[in-house]
Amino acid sequence: MSLSEFDVIKQFFTGLTDARDDVVAGIGDDCALLDVPPGRHLAVSVDTLVAGRHFLADADPESVGHKALAVNLSDLAAAGAEPAWATLALTLPAVDTDWLRGFSRGFAALAGRHGVALVGGDTTGGPLSITVTVHGFVAVDRVLTRGGARPGDRVCVSGTVGDAALALARRLRGEAVPAELAVRLDRPLPRVALGRLLGGTASAAIDVSDGLLADLGHVCARSGVGARVERDRIPLSPALATYCRGGDWSPVLGGGDDYELLCCVPPEQLPALRVACDDAGEHLTEIGELVERPGIVLVTPDGDQPVDPGAGFDHFRGAAAPR
Ligand SMILES: [Mg+2]
Repeated sequence: MSLSEFDVIKQFFTGLTDARDDVVAGIGDDCALLDVPPGRHLAVSVDTLVAGRHFLADADPESVGHKALAVNLSDLAAAGAEPAWATLALTLPAVDTDWLRGFSRGFAALAGRHGVALVGGDTTGGPLSITVTVHGFVAVDRVLTRGGARPGDRVCVSGTVGDAALALARRLRGEAVPAELAVRLDRPLPRVALGRLLGGTASAAIDVSDGLLADLGHVCARSGVGARVERDRIPLSPALATYCRGGDWSPVLGGGDDYELLCCVPPEQLPALRVACDDAGEHLTEIGELVERPGIVLVTPDGDQPVDPGAGFDHFRGAAAPR
């Protein structure tokens, strides 16, 4: 006997995440009723993952559950926000209890790490697709946006970039993907703590989801500045450093899906920020500088190269690879 929509919600999603005091009404009512603390903005972000476009249809459901929430939490991180609540809209081709069990486990594990309560959602029949909306809080004086960066600000990026794109390329070619690369593609860790640390210090921020240069391009466009990026200062994992020695830098410069944070920091703020990052166990690498002249220039040992920041991933242009 197949489960009804109500059975699915009851069996897999009611009580999935820890309760929060600021949830007046959650799953099972017509609306979630939620308390926003005074003096804080409500930060909201939504993302949809479609099977065959954003993840392979046979992908491990636990990883899909993790990633569906992670990509949204990454957007909250880029706003400097503290995550609080999520809603989930699931479109399922059939009620597959094994898939739902894995999916809900992956979702709940990441939600638990960030104190996120699932407060509502919807399930319906159709091609597999997952929409998550997250809500968080940010103090009014610690807001981060893509605007606000100024010439002279340093461009910094967290962690390492390019790993997820190289993992995806190898997987699509049917090649073995080393575990340290696969985990970056399948289980990205949103930089929530770093985002909150950057609030009030960084002049602008974005998460790296379209590609390093494309996302920097978004910041430059919104802030009305240009940028110079020193290619050889971009932080790479050992696997990517080896790969790039072959001459192909495209996973690093154009690959999305790393969900690191790219931020712009006034130079006088950098020393204190470095200390704060060290204390918090976060890693930020300076890779360039903002300039008045629009456009992005990539500085390499072979000379300066103007780049097209629009060359990153765009869902409405070019062929989209499943990821
Ligand atoms: Mg984003």
